[in-house]
Formats: sequence, structure tokens, C-alpha cells
Amino acid sequence: MRDRPAAPSSAYAFPPASTPFLAIRGETHRFPIHRIYCVGRNFAEHAREMGAEASRGTPVFFGKPADAAVPGGDIPYPPGTSDLHHEVELVVALGHDADGKVAVADALALVFGYSVGLDLTRRDLQAAAKEKRLPWDTAKGFDASAPIGELVPVAQCGHPSTQRLWLEVEGTLRQQAPLSDMVFSVAEVLHALSKLYRLRAGDLVFMGTPAGVAALQPGNRFRAGIDGIATLEGRIVPPR
Ligand code: MN
Repeated sequence: MRDRPAAPSSAYAFPPASTPFLAIRGETHRFPIHRIYCVGRNFAEHAREMGAEASRGTPVFFGKPADAAVPGGDIPYPPGTSDLHHEVELVVALGHDADGKVAVADALALVFGYSVGLDLTRRDLQAAAKEKRLPWDTAKGFDASAPIGELVPVAQCGHPSTQRLWLEVEGTLRQQAPLSDMVFSVAEVLHALSKLYRLRAGDLVFMGTPAGVAALQPGNRFRAGIDGIATLEGRIVPPR
């Protein structure tokens, strides 16, 4: 399969949308986002609080549009919900392409860096979709549903595997767990994704959330982090 060649902007009927990106710590270059993949049920206690079981086997995947990524700051309360939930997660950023299946042992070589993000979720829409066995897209893939902190290159942080992932809302700790609690490791998740998609430099992967997901209200300030690596701060503001 060949990628289509890039065309000059004058080739389009109107100017194409700008490329979504993340800031990179210590660099002036930006990280251009290609796709956002998300893993579900990757912490056993969170799976249980959602009424499911985490199981080895195959990870659960869903997606968000690339332009759902925002750098924290003011995040408008989204329309269509009265139960916006936070899910704090490790975010993996890929810096290399892979055609075809990637072995677990080779997967970490694809990683550019890491950050912390929120998989914002319209929990009421997700619950309704689950009940009717309908897709989750409107619950997960909305505007500004993926606040992500500054990206930290592997050269600066290595490959995190045991550090604490945490989220505070209004100064109160809501979620925390060591990354070692993840059911599927980063390498295992990339291996599983590579069996379903062509992995590309610019892809992001949200690695799933620990227990403690709960509602965010307009006005709430949040701080998230992975100890010693990445932080993210922002505030939910009234709807636009
Ligand atoms: Mn999630």
C-alpha cells in the first residue's frame, strides 16, 4: 500500500485543516498527530468499577479523532452530556512507521516518547450505547476529548513501567495507580494494534485508566501526572 503524495494547498477546494500537534519537551519542533488509539479495560479495578472484567487475551480498542487532542488549559464542557468523566492515562507517541505485525520484543523501538492525558468521556452516552449494543463513538470521540501534556522524548524519560499515574481535581486525589498495574504493557498493546492497523509515526495510544473515574463540572481545575515524567493542567469551563 502506498501513501498518497502530498498536494500543495492550492490543490484543495478550501484550505485544509491544520495538523494537530503536541509540544515536545526541550525541542522547538512539534509532534504532528496522525491517529489517536485508545485501550479499554487495561486496569483490573477500573474494569470492575465499570461492571466488566479485565482479561488477558486481546485488548479492547477504540479511537478518537486526531484533532480531539488539546494541550490542557481551558476545556469547554461538551454538549450532549450531563455526566462528563475523567480517565487519566499514560499516552504513548510513536516516532516510526511499521508495516505489518510488530513483535512484542521490537515494539518499544517505535516509541518517540510519553505523556499523560485525559480520555474525557460522556459517560451517560457510553452507558446508553453499551445497553443497546451500539458504538461508543459519541461518548469518546468529541471535540477537545483528549487533553494531553507536553510530550517527553524517550531519550529523557526512558520507557516508564512502574511510575505512579495520578489525577487531582480541585486539589483532591481522584485516581492513582502504578503503571505496573496495567494488564497489557505498552509493547503488548503496540503488538496487538499492529495486527489491526498500519502503525505510523504520529500515532498516539491512550493506555487505559485506573479506578476512580468520576464526573467533572464546569469550573473544576485538574492536575494530572506521571511521577518524574509528565504533567497536565487544565480547567473545565462552561459550554461555548
Ligand atoms: Mn480510557
